[in-house]
Amino acid sequence: MIGHSTDSISGKIDLVRCDKHRTAGMRAVTTQTISPVGDVNFSDALYCKMPECNRHYRTDFGYFTQALGSGPDLELDQKKPRCGKHEETPALFVEQVGAEEWRLSCPIDGCDTQQPLES
Ligand SMILES: [Zn+2]
Ligand SMILES: [Zn+2]
Repeated sequence: MIGHSTDSISGKIDLVRCDKHRTAGMRAVTTQTISPVGDVNFSDALYCKMPECNRHYRTDFGYFTQALGSGPDLELDQKKPRCGKHEETPALFVEQVGAEEWRLSCPIDGCDTQQPLES
């Protein structure tokens, strides 16, 4: 799974909100991870725009935390909502649809899968 890009979300990047802040947008970044055997991997992710927030989002892992200079905590033990309409079952992202209203949406262009966001 490492190495997947966020190309499939390019049309919806502006809609993605940090799941911790919900009003903060996210920007595309390239993160660097080092495997136990020393391989360096680069992968695309979205990164919260809020200073001091380490939340990232990827379509394959969903939301996760990665502090600068350290490995990601992918929170694989947590059940993350996904869209089952696609082979890669992308993780849903938090979309703001009103001043006090959010929902979970599928990152794939043209897919209209949505779920209510539990607070
Ligand atoms: Zn944030
Ligand atoms: Zn979908």
